[in-house]
Amino acid sequence: MPSKKFYIFAVILISTALLFSGSLLDRKFSKLNSTQGKASVVEVVYPEEGKIISFEPSRPIEQNPQNLNIIQEDQNTKDITPLAEKKDEDPPKKKVIPFSCLTSEKEYDDMWLFNLGQNISLPDTTYIPKGLEKIPNIYSARTNICLTHDTLENLEAMLSQAKIDGHIIKVTSAFRTFDYQTGLLQTATDNGNSDANLSIAKPGYSEHQLGTAVDLSGESINFSSADRAFNYTEEAKWLEEHASDYGFIESYPKDKTDITGYIYEPWHYRYVGIDNAKQILKNNQTITEFLAE
Ligand SMILES: [Zn+2]
Repeated sequence: MPSKKFYIFAVILISTALLFSGSLLDRKFSKLNSTQGKASVVEVVYPEEGKIISFEPSRPIEQNPQNLNIIQEDQNTKDITPLAEKKDEDPPKKKVIPFSCLTSEKEYDDMWLFNLGQNISLPDTTYIPKGLEKIPNIYSARTNICLTHDTLENLEAMLSQAKIDGHIIKVTSAFRTFDYQTGLLQTATDNGNSDANLSIAKPGYSEHQLGTAVDLSGESINFSSADRAFNYTEEAKWLEEHASDYGFIESYPKDKTDITGYIYEPWHYRYVGIDNAKQILKNNQTITEFLAE
């Protein structure tokens, strides 16, 4: 018969065995997690969920701010895509295409002194002058409008002198294509302007298509374009006196409507070169009359 001591020993042995089996053994305590050889967090594996939960030991094994950051990131990050594989999710930035003046593949004769009129159109209505250049913003009330090189060079000289003399004058319209002119006339007609043809050239008939004509306006009327109010401004007076010194002439002067076919447009100037401009002024001619000689 086993002794009483044997039974007590056997009970302790069985209890100990039970204690280390069953549910307690389902949870396997891992080794201390080692990051680059430095223990910082403890991992516990839950087999039923296959997850590894990291947590900080109640008493930090090593104070290492870098590792603490890693723990925080692990807890808050659901997306486990490696950073290297992530694509840039920002919307693609819009490309800003710098403005450039129109150019044409087609070869045209230079039309800068062509005698355009109410009844004389360009020989080729697709005409685009060579070497159009953008007017700098300080001389233009609109963005992205262009003139030929010589026209722009002389315009800048004229408007900078006007400024020195106390007048801020800017361009409100410059080179226009055939299509733009078509739209301009159509809009005026649609708006009930029955005299549109007296102030707006037909497409193919406009000096603006030459790249040498400008509409000008002044600060005193807030750069209002093709505005009869410009007639009475100091800026208009200054232009009348000085424009020819820079090769510019009013295309549609006062009291010349019967010759030009257009109403008086004190804002519309055409570059014809300094010598020609002075000759036209001296002879009290219109550009049409001068060029017809
Ligand atoms: Zn004009």
